[in-house]
Amino acid sequence: FMADVEAYIKDLKETIIKRDPNQSEFQEAVFTVLESLKPVLEKHPEYIKTNILGSLVEPERVFQFRIPWQDDAGNYRINRGFRVQFNSAIGPYKGGLRLHPSVNLSIVKFLGFEQILKNSLTGLPIGGGKGGADFDPKGKSDLEIMRFCQSFMTELQKYIGPNLDVPAGDIGVGGREIGYLYGQYKRLNGSQSGILTGKGLEYGGSLARTEATGFGLIYFLDALIKDQKDSLKSKTIKISGAGNVAIYALQKAQENGAKVVTVSDSNGYIYDPNGIDLATVKQIKEVERGRIKEYADKISTAKYFEGSVWDLDIDYDIALPCATQNEINEDQAQLMVKNGVKYIAEGANMPSSTKAIKVYKDNQIIYGPAKAANAGGVAVSALEMSQNSERLSWNFEDVDHQLKGIMENIYKQISDADKEYDLGKDYQAGANIAGFEKVAKAMLAQGLV
Ligand code: GLU
Repeated sequence: FMADVEAYIKDLKETIIKRDPNQSEFQEAVFTVLESLKPVLEKHPEYIKTNILGSLVEPERVFQFRIPWQDDAGNYRINRGFRVQFNSAIGPYKGGLRLHPSVNLSIVKFLGFEQILKNSLTGLPIGGGKGGADFDPKGKSDLEIMRFCQSFMTELQKYIGPNLDVPAGDIGVGGREIGYLYGQYKRLNGSQSGILTGKGLEYGGSLARTEATGFGLIYFLDALIKDQKDSLKSKTIKISGAGNVAIYALQKAQENGAKVVTVSDSNGYIYDPNGIDLATVKQIKEVERGRIKEYADKISTAKYFEGSVWDLDIDYDIALPCATQNEINEDQAQLMVKNGVKYIAEGANMPSSTKAIKVYKDNQIIYGPAKAANAGGVAVSALEMSQNSERLSWNFEDVDHQLKGIMENIYKQISDADKEYDLGKDYQAGANIAGFEKVAKAMLAQGLV
């Protein structure tokens, strides 16, 4: 039967390449999952017979549209927008919107595909989707951001709904952008709080949503580390990124007694051997909307370097990539081995290249993949949807407590899958398998859809 499995997977890969030869990020995300699922297919011939994976890799629906907007100088500008409604087997499509010049259909599809399994792991009833635009928010005025978001929503509103598809933030989309998107949706359709998550607290947002991805990353890491009979206390950590995920991972790691020595942005990174000062990062990023190099002007023990934080040659224990996809290459993974890194947990989506992951596995670095480690954000988004439905707001402790329980349960599911399939602490395969099984059962139950 193994031969059938191999042939089936090979066939799927060929179909994917033939349909969309240039979607490298999408292929990378899907092929990794397909490899992980081989032992599941051996156990469940019905998944091959019903071609569940053939359905899983093909989005239910893809929208691409023009976004016209006017800049402050009066120029007419055009961007390209997307929404991919990937899989609704276990609930309404759920996933963020990314605003970044690199956004294209391959990136939105890879993110949407990851979201299916991530959302499944949360245990909450949400399907997978993702969207965005190739708009560059860098250097744009507040009014330009507002006009862009209004135009984006003018088209997007046709495809979404509180029980159909609920977008949220991702890179380039935070509280400010969600506010503008929400305002435009409301002008066109009336007040419907469940249409977006990550909203402001004054108009239906959830407490702890801002913190959720970063806090969740550390709750997950803590569960993983404790299971190895180890602890976060006194560990030295490198974090990449300085956005929402990085900032709250930094805060929670410090609360757990670890020392974080780096943060970064797309230009360079800060190395502060005394430990990064949380308040200073928050001031620069959340209040001043500045660049991370300004940290070195404020804190004398810190140094700013251009380039990637993953090229910084220092000994440390834990890597938390919280910037973007494929930020860690094979050589940088080799440097982690040399630097004595024991654990890596991903705050960003797919930050490690396939070759980097092979280096982790060959060198016994314990690896917590994104779809498990960063699921806290979307989990609290689902809790925001619950609160919107019942028209109530839960308190911070309540949401935070639920988030912690969800992250511990995610770790348990993936380590159970690891044991069931005898994977040898391959939590990447464990996450792919555990996330897939629920979606596959739901798809099978619903027939050919
Ligand atoms: N963009 C986040 C993610 O990658 C959150 C999505 C959401 O809250 O819907 O999971």
